[in-house]
Amino acid sequence: MKLISTRNAENKIAALDAVLKGIASDGGLFVPEVFPAMDKRLILGLGENSYAEAAAKVLGLFFDEIEDEDLRKMAEAAYAHFDDVRVAPVKKLTNKEYILELFHGPTLAFKDMALQILPRLMSEALKNSGSKENILILTATSGDTGKAALEGFRDVSRTKIAVFYPEEGVSDMQKLQMVTQPGKNTYVCAVRGNFDDAQTGVKKMFADIGFNERVKARGYQLSSANSINFGRLAPQIAYYIYAYAKLVSGGHIQVGETINITVPTGNFGNILAAYYAKKMGLPVSKLICASNSNNVLTDFFESGKYVTNRMFFKTMSPSMDILISSNLERLLFEVCERNAAYVRELMQTLGADGEYTLDFSSKGRMVKDFYADYADELRTARTIKDTFRKHGYLLDPHTAVAKAVYENYLQHTGDSKVNLIVSTASPFKFVQDVLRSLTGEAVEEPFEAARRLAEASGSEVPGQISALQGSDVRFMDVAEKEELADVILNIL
Ligand SMILES: *Cc1c(COP(=O)(O)O)cnc(C)c1O
Repeated sequence: MKLISTRNAENKIAALDAVLKGIASDGGLFVPEVFPAMDKRLILGLGENSYAEAAAKVLGLFFDEIEDEDLRKMAEAAYAHFDDVRVAPVKKLTNKEYILELFHGPTLAFKDMALQILPRLMSEALKNSGSKENILILTATSGDTGKAALEGFRDVSRTKIAVFYPEEGVSDMQKLQMVTQPGKNTYVCAVRGNFDDAQTGVKKMFADIGFNERVKARGYQLSSANSINFGRLAPQIAYYIYAYAKLVSGGHIQVGETINITVPTGNFGNILAAYYAKKMGLPVSKLICASNSNNVLTDFFESGKYVTNRMFFKTMSPSMDILISSNLERLLFEVCERNAAYVRELMQTLGADGEYTLDFSSKGRMVKDFYADYADELRTARTIKDTFRKHGYLLDPHTAVAKAVYENYLQHTGDSKVNLIVSTASPFKFVQDVLRSLTGEAVEEPFEAARRLAEASGSEVPGQISALQGSDVRFMDVAEKEELADVILNIL
């Protein structure tokens, strides 16, 4: 299928080529020229498949240049090493509340769902393009993308990957996961500042023509593993459809029944995938966009005004400590009825003034599908504790934000449709904060905290966490955001 740029609909590209390119040359993001339609039979049929088979079928709707059989093999390899054979199990809290667990991959966050298959799509795209160049993946991370991308691309031939994380902006476990990363083609560097600084630094490199030429002279072409890449988005659509099919086949909902979906949101990639699934025919009513104290999206859905110039908070859900949600541009494109000139204008205004205001009718279309709210730190901590008490279910802080916001939604609207809460990380990745929320204990040392948390919650420390203890630290570099290009040229 063809994709078009959100800033110029004439700018068309095959879906597989977009995976290599990452971002459109006009600065826009690639979106499907038309959304493939799914009928009821197709959706429900997926419930009979393994996760990998279902994911391959959904990906096939976009990547029609890849043979079905090849896609299936890619998906099977991608999801073979998850710590739950169901890959993305749906757990029941109550008759109305279900949790879609997306953290069973090698790095314990939902990013694995896409980043275990993206490198395979990229290798296919590279083969397809006949290009002789290698790929250099540059990634800014708020904590989870970095590790998931490193694992996904580790020792993949013809690729190198460099990850930049905010020096003070990730949890101890997240940092440990990254700085101990094995692989001959991996590199990790801290950036002074917050995630937006790291992201800005990385975006600058993509736009710097001189830098691109020097990278090219060394035999590399730049690409991105961030959620602006369509190859991240497409695999994320699959689990929403699969979860729905499983809710039906498990007898939890009727065929065709509409559900709500609540997503803890940062860069707007995960919830956008749910919106795309709805556009493709999945029976979804409201998409509930949950933020932490960095509630720029809550304000935007409320007022239509996006303002990035505001206080930045460091929270216990660091993967959502983001003020510039890149993927929102894809939603804007849909709600303004695909007016690329208008999107271009909004993004220019954002770049120049740090804010923009959406026109009235677009805003109206937007709030038909979405509800947005946020939970502060206290509320998040209380939700972790209360949910464990009530249901014996341990939430990570990101998922707790979603659960709290869903409770607000229920109270404000009384809408008691079945709700699917997306769980994006294992609580053991944010172990000190989760332990403190649950029992009040303040344990500094992360592995000691993990032992205590396992004890207090009657669960086991995931192998992915215990394996970190005693692993060698390989990466200790720290850089200013202006220096990233030099850092990269040094390692090539
Ligand atoms: C990345 C991440 C999020 C936010 O997802 P977006 O697609 O950026 O909105 C939420 N929770 C966790 C644990 C994450 O790693």
